[in-house]
Amino acid sequence: MLRKCTCCGATFDADQPWKLLCYACWRAKKDAESGDVGALTLRAIKAELGLSRAMDEIERLQGIIYREAKRWAKNAQPEAIPPDLLKSMLLLCHPDRHNNSQASNKVTTWLLQQRAKHSA
Ligand SMILES: [Zn+2]
Repeated sequence: MLRKCTCCGATFDADQPWKLLCYACWRAKKDAESGDVGALTLRAIKAELGLSRAMDEIERLQGIIYREAKRWAKNAQPEAIPPDLLKSMLLLCHPDRHNNSQASNKVTTWLLQQRAKHSA
């Protein structure tokens, strides 16, 4: 059964209902009880080294995320509709060709705005 370690809060698979500590915490408790300072020191050094490596990795990944976000934002600008295509679109949806419908007026207005936006 999955259980939360009462010492460090990590989730661990407890094969017995009476197990309250994850293996790492149980081992550290046993080492402390036995007065094995060497084992405790070694565990602390390993933990410190692991933390240091994890911090380096986080920093490396943050750098990648920052660069990718910057690159994405730069490329996120919408591309202008090529002028010849825009001209065809305006001709195709001109209100005169569509009984002056609301939809054709709406689309024509939007297309004219695009032309004005990108020719400015
Ligand atoms: Zn624990």
